[in-house]
Amino acid sequence: MHGGEDGGMKMKSFMVDLDRCVGCYACIIGCKDENNLDAGTDRIGLRVIEGKEQLYTHYIPEFNLDCEGDSRCTTCPQLQAQGRRPACAANCLTDAIIFDESEKIEAAAKGRRVKVVEGNTSVTYVSSIEISELSK
Ligand code: SF4
Ligand code: SF4
Repeated sequence: MHGGEDGGMKMKSFMVDLDRCVGCYACIIGCKDENNLDAGTDRIGLRVIEGKEQLYTHYIPEFNLDCEGDSRCTTCPQLQAQGRRPACAANCLTDAIIFDESEKIEAAAKGRRVKVVEGNTSVTYVSSIEISELSK
């Protein structure tokens, strides 16, 4: 039901702006702290891609969206119930991670290079460079 309504509640999803991610790991630490996660049960990770001779480095935050068990991203319902953002989004100082109504995410991503990863919660990646290059 991406972008639709669910029992009167607007569906929400993530947007990750790869141009804004500086690889600081604050999203991952925030998630661990908020959800008291043990080692090896991360709900979000960071993929680091280095170019030849390290002329560039790209960082790609990746959510653990669908797998079963403790590591699945739950979108922090305990925080949302208080009107607060998921810890990963709140901890990101560059606003690389946005969690909002899916239709607002779609509007914000319009006109930018986009890759959408579907799951229980969808993630829309935007970037000024080719996403397919980052996905390798
Ligand atoms: S998404 Fe934000 S908090 Fe996470 S590594 Fe990138 S800049 Fe840091
Ligand atoms: S929404 Fe919550 S549980 Fe999911 S990755 Fe972000 S901080 Fe972790």
